[in-house]
This record gives sequence, structure tokens and C-alpha cells, in this order.
Amino acid sequence: AKLWTMVRHFEGAPKPEDFKLENKELPPLKDGELLLESEFLSVDPYIRPYSKEKKEGDIILGSQVARVVESKNSAFPVGGYYVAYAGWATHFISDGKGLDALPSNWPDNLPRSLALGAVGMPGVTAYYGLLEICKPKEGEVVLVNAAAGAVGSLVGQIAKIKGCKVVGSAGSDEKLTFLKEIGFDEAFNYKTASSLAEALKNASPEGYDCYFDNVGGKFSDATLQQMKDFGRITVCGAISQYNDAVPPTGPYIQPYILFKQLLVQGFLVWTWKNRYTEAQKQLLQWIAEGKLKYHEHITSGFENMPAGFIGMLKGENIGKAIIKV
Ligand code: NDP
Repeated sequence: AKLWTMVRHFEGAPKPEDFKLENKELPPLKDGELLLESEFLSVDPYIRPYSKEKKEGDIILGSQVARVVESKNSAFPVGGYYVAYAGWATHFISDGKGLDALPSNWPDNLPRSLALGAVGMPGVTAYYGLLEICKPKEGEVVLVNAAAGAVGSLVGQIAKIKGCKVVGSAGSDEKLTFLKEIGFDEAFNYKTASSLAEALKNASPEGYDCYFDNVGGKFSDATLQQMKDFGRITVCGAISQYNDAVPPTGPYIQPYILFKQLLVQGFLVWTWKNRYTEAQKQLLQWIAEGKLKYHEHITSGFENMPAGFIGMLKGENIGKAIIKV
């Protein structure tokens, strides 16, 4: 097997020299075990903050869609496809625990990589993070940042399905074009806007009912001031702060939460593990009906995993960043 390990803990933005490609001979299978081969691997922002909990030399965290190539476990026959959290490896041995079979109604015409994106963890995040925390109602205004990414692009489309006006922000003009193509009402480039406050006001002069936050930091500071009374906020990610060496303090914006009576709730998708299937079923149905468009940014070659991960953190991706082995 080939695997990528973490040479040292990341300091600031992850760099190519933080990663090492290793070869590992896997032992013969014991009874109850199976050998899987990764087909697609996922590079996700959470790998950056959660790597702090890993030791130097450990395999890099991550999930994949993998096929059973050898099995001594009758519950997992050769040829079956599963989503696994086995880290950045081409091959790995499992006892079957923690493997999730692809949804049984998986259509033949959909790439299996979607089990890591629109129909996988990011899809479920967008679905429950928006519908169960923000609870948008028809006619309301929904704001999402990192809007052209895996989660954000789905949040915006689900909000449109629910009859909302949707505003997105993203880091390039190419991404703004993409957002318009998938139905966003308004989109602005947070990197070139002269002021976030102005950009937010221009996109929705009446303010925002719902804010799905993937970014945190200054973007949230500016947005809290534009929220409508009784607005709801899903704190889903803080990608603008994952590389910070010093834990963030402040910001001193609580008066907005108080006087606007905002509801602010953190969201972790793992909490919704026992309701994955329900969300996946709906996401698959919307895709089949053409109501939900998915986009993938595919990097080919296992050896390019660090480049794919670093690129995603820098915003090179439109839609879900995926590595094809
Ligand atoms: P994306 O596909 O959105 O990729 C990350 C994007 O973040 C980049 O494309 C880039 O787009 C944007 N970005 C990077 N740095 C900054 C910055 N400093 N300020 C603003 N935007 C930035 O990733 P995901 O959809 O997988 O994840 C999006 C967010 O959701 C992340 O914060 C992630 O941690 C979170 N998440 C949380 C989950 C949970 O359970 N809470 C589960 C899944 C994801 P751009 O060009 O626009 O800058």
C-alpha cells in the first residue's frame, strides 16, 4: 500500500514538505478481515484543524470510496463499494467496522465520488445544517460563504428549493459565474469587494434571515451587523481561522446577537450520523429530478493528494475537491 503521513504538525498553511509518501507492506488477512482499494479520496478542510490531534508520523486523516478486493468476511464480499475513514492510503485492511455501504438506491449513472461530496458528508452537512439549524422559510433571505465549495454550493441550492432568496460569497469571479449558473440570486467576490459591509448591503438591502457560516472571522463580524431581527446562524466552519497559530479572541460583537435576538448554533455533522440515510435519500432524489446540481474538482493521481489538499484550502476548487487514485 502507498500512504501519506504527516512529517510534522502544520504551522500556518500546510506545505508540501509537511507530507511524506510511504510504501507499506500489508500483512495477510486474518479471519473476519478484508482488503480494500481506494478509488476516490476526499480532501476536506476539517483535516487541517483535526490533524492537531494526530502524532507526527501518523497517516493523514481522511475518507475514501473503496472497493473490497479480498475478503475473509462474508458480510463484505469482493466487489462491494464502501465509504471508509481509513486516511490517505491506496489500500487498507478493515474488520468491517465503520464502513458505510453506498446507499442501496445508488443510480448507475452517478459517479461513486459523490458519496464523498453531494451525497456524502458535505451533502448531509448542507442538508441538516441549513434545514435543522437555520430553518429557512419561503421568501426569506439566506447568506452562505465559501459558496462555490462542496458544502456552500449545496446550501444555496437547497435554500432555493425551499423558496428562499440566496446570496453567496466566493473568492473569484469564475466562482461567481458558477454560482449564478446554479441558481444563486446574488453573488459577490469577498476578495475584491471594497468593503464586506457594502457588498452584503448591496446584495440584500433588507438584511439576512439566515446565515450559513463556513468561514468565520471578519466575514462573520460584518454579517452579524446585517442580520435581521430573530435571524438564525449555523456556524458550520471557520476556514479563515484554521491556519491561525494563536487561538482567536473576540470578536466583540455580542451586542448584535443580543439586540437582534439572533439564534447562533454550532453544527457538527457527526452528531447527525444516525440520520445520514434520510438526507442521502433526499439528496439523491433532488439530483435525479435535476433540482440539485453537483460539481467536482478532480485531481488525478494518489501522489498529488497534498497538492489537491493545499489547493482546496487556497480556493482552487469549484464544488467538491476529490482525488482520483
Ligand atoms: P470547500 O469545498 O468550500 O473548500 C474550501 C473553500 O474555502 C475554498 O474553496 C475557498 O474558496 C474557501 N476559503 C479558503 N480560505 C478562505 C478564507 N480565508 N476566507 C474565506 N473563504 C476561504 O470546503 P467544504 O465545503 O468541504 O467545507 C466548507 C466549510 O464547511 C469549511 O469551513 C469546513 O470546515 C466546514 N465543514 C463543516 C462540517 C461540520 O460538520 N461542521 C462538515 C463539512 C464541512 P474561496 O475561493 O471562496 O475562498
